[in-house]
Amino acid sequence: MCGIVGYIGNREAYPILMKGLQRLEYRGYDSAGVAMINAAGAMNVYKKKGKVSDLSDFAKGQDITGNIGIGHTRWATHGEPNDVNSHPHYSQSGDLVMIHNGIIENYASIKEGLTKRGHTFKSQTDTEVLIHLIEDIKKSENMKTGHAVLAALNQIIGAYALVVLDKNDPDTLIAAKKGSPMVIGIGEDEFFIASDASPIVEYTKNVVYLNDEQVAIIRRGQEIKLRTIKDKEIPLYVQELEMELEAIEKGGYEHFMLKEIYEQPRSVKDSMRGRLNAEKGIVQLGGIVDHIAKFKNAKRIIIIACGTSWHAGLVAEYLFEEYARIPVEVEYASEFRYRNPIIYPDDVVIAISQSGETADTLAAIELAKSKGATIIGVCNVVGSSIPRASHAGSYTHAGPEIGVASTKAFTAQVVVLTLMALQVAKEKGTMAESKFSQLLYELESVPSKIEDVLKQKRFNKTHCRYL
Ligand code: GLU
Repeated sequence: MCGIVGYIGNREAYPILMKGLQRLEYRGYDSAGVAMINAAGAMNVYKKKGKVSDLSDFAKGQDITGNIGIGHTRWATHGEPNDVNSHPHYSQSGDLVMIHNGIIENYASIKEGLTKRGHTFKSQTDTEVLIHLIEDIKKSENMKTGHAVLAALNQIIGAYALVVLDKNDPDTLIAAKKGSPMVIGIGEDEFFIASDASPIVEYTKNVVYLNDEQVAIIRRGQEIKLRTIKDKEIPLYVQELEMELEAIEKGGYEHFMLKEIYEQPRSVKDSMRGRLNAEKGIVQLGGIVDHIAKFKNAKRIIIIACGTSWHAGLVAEYLFEEYARIPVEVEYASEFRYRNPIIYPDDVVIAISQSGETADTLAAIELAKSKGATIIGVCNVVGSSIPRASHAGSYTHAGPEIGVASTKAFTAQVVVLTLMALQVAKEKGTMAESKFSQLLYELESVPSKIEDVLKQKRFNKTHCRYL
């Protein structure tokens, strides 16, 4: 989940948006984009893979005027990082654009329905599907954009912080959130939107935090209107920001590592999102469905990784052996690649890497591939080298990790590997139904259990010193 900024007021939006995006750079991201509506009513969208400075170079000399606009830094979850998949995304007519942090779980079925209704999509993102859905509802139900946003959000499953800009309404921004943070700053005749307070704090200390399933209609020169997605009006609760800029960049925590430890209930949930349903007895990583026969036929699994990912591999060894009854060898990628290992064509090789760029792991993959093994990647960065070099795999969806000692990236790896072991066990029939079902329920409760641990008084930042 990366960065969101928005501005509506009397000043030029572009410099405020760009500065805001720079303030959010600490979160890590793979591409950036902005959209502004100029005085003549034209909407200009500029987006680029790479850094905010690449976007700024790209926008040089182009029309960047307008006193309403939105900006985004993306951490890809659906579709590789490239210019087209970058945000903002257009609706079918091009009249609406949207930026979004999060994951729309049921985007595939919505996309299928929209395609049948004549929609065409430019990107591979879940985000583009949602803005198409909003416009589809707006047109077919003859609704205002704000109401169409409410209606669409009732149809989706997932997490979002989003802002919609309507070319035909250059005086309004519509923001909504669920499971991803969103804050609105109230200035003198101007409003600022951001995914955390760092882009806002230099302009105003009066802020409104959106709660889950709330939508804000922000009109030029008017008071913000807040509604739930069920169309219930909510009174505005304006708070004063007490933090200083530096603290806010770390979300109020003293260190990124501490912040990332506290993000784990969310990152674990994101890693399981759409993949686990205990009530229905379903565990399914879409990425490995087509390769499940390879697991079934494998006489052994080799896990290759380095550092933290290697430790996640050690946990996975226990899980695959116990649940799926497949022998597992866990190898340090740098050792594996230099020691002429024995690899059989029916081996399944699981390559784990947070960044998806670990050089030794990549080299080990190439070696295993050359011997005919099946490669399954488990990575956090969409479109990185290891997922591209693998036959199949699953992303961990932990979001960017700044702390050098890994926390949420590690737990997300363990979650994905647990899901994988359970899925293979189910397919192989190596586990009793009752045990399988019990484990799915236990897994589902992990985020709230982590929350409980983090709430305990005994858990405080001194723990981090020992980690
Ligand atoms: N799921 C969206 C995408 O892949 C948003 C990712 C984000 O939170 O930056 O484009």
